[in-house]
Amino acid sequence: MPLFDAFPDITKRREPLAPYTHLRIGGPAECLVQPRTTDELKAVLRYCKTKDIPLRMLGGGFNLIVKDDPIPGAVMRLIGPEFSTIVTQGKTIRAAGGGQLFDLLAHAVQAGLGGLETLVGIRGTVGGSVRCNVGDRSGEIGSSVRRVAVLHDDASELVRTRDELTFGEHTSDLDEPVILWVEFELTPEKPQALLKRMRRAWIIRKATEPLSFQAGIRLFRDPTGQSAGALIERAGLTKFRIGSAEISDRNGNYAIAHPGTTAKDLLKLIEHVRTKVKDFAGVVLERELNVW
Ligand SMILES: Cc1cc2nc3c(=O)[nH]c(=O)nc-3n(C[C@H](O)[C@H](O)[C@H](O)COP(=O)(O)OP(=O)(O)OC[C@H]3O[C@@H](n4cnc5c(N)ncnc54)[C@H](O)[C@@H]3O)c2cc1C
Repeated sequence: MPLFDAFPDITKRREPLAPYTHLRIGGPAECLVQPRTTDELKAVLRYCKTKDIPLRMLGGGFNLIVKDDPIPGAVMRLIGPEFSTIVTQGKTIRAAGGGQLFDLLAHAVQAGLGGLETLVGIRGTVGGSVRCNVGDRSGEIGSSVRRVAVLHDDASELVRTRDELTFGEHTSDLDEPVILWVEFELTPEKPQALLKRMRRAWIIRKATEPLSFQAGIRLFRDPTGQSAGALIERAGLTKFRIGSAEISDRNGNYAIAHPGTTAKDLLKLIEHVRTKVKDFAGVVLERELNVW
């Protein structure tokens, strides 16, 4: 039985993924499945495993380029309220993987718990952001993580503790199909002090990113001790354009997808930048973005 027939209430066939991603580009998924509860989610995982259906998890699509061709198998989004709960207990906050990072930050500041406030302005879900270890020089999310509950492809649940996790530059070893929830250990501080730090971080981040009305996306990890954006700018690639995809003039490590941009244009632009930076500076940039 096809996935759609097994889960008709929560599955859409040949669903365009563009509206579910930040850049609003890319082709359709063979099936988009949106479980509302953990039980439904586990049933979908088990079904896909048994039927050998490839499954991908979509968060907010802020670190993702969806190619123009149809995506075989299933793409999953966590949409029910169960997947966005946030609960505080003492110095810890447990946030479900499908909730918005911003809601978590606002919750932490209100609760007077510090450690996450400098991530303000980074968009994504909690699960996607922890998997990608978001942050910058002022701090990264992984350093506050205490435990992560994940689901394997057979729907078995495992709680991974801090000492079993590895976080690197915009990366982690969380490669299980689903991050169900994340527990953060934070530091009690006055909400006013956290708010002040949050405002400062917001101003700095906004000054170094594409403008809010532009569909911009970060391209590369910073090589050790260097800035990917500075290397790209020094290689003379500011405002370089392929089709409607253009390197931002506010930060060389962002591409802007102007209306009409295809995933093909963006991927060509990324390859061009990699080649030029390698020729110019001898540095091989590593792509930060996921490509489906
Ligand atoms: C304008 C702009 C500015 C940005 N600035 C920064 C910055 O300053 N610092 C920074 O670090 N990042 C930055 N980013 C990157 C981006 O915001 C993050 O990587 C984002 O948090 C990813 O979360 P997401 O939910 O959008 O994940 P997606 O992009 O949807 O997915 C990313 C990966 O996570 C996986 N995933 C998503 N949800 C789950 C889940 N529940 N369980 C398991 N796997 C999951 C996906 O399968 C995929 O592999 C920026 C992005 C943009 C567009």
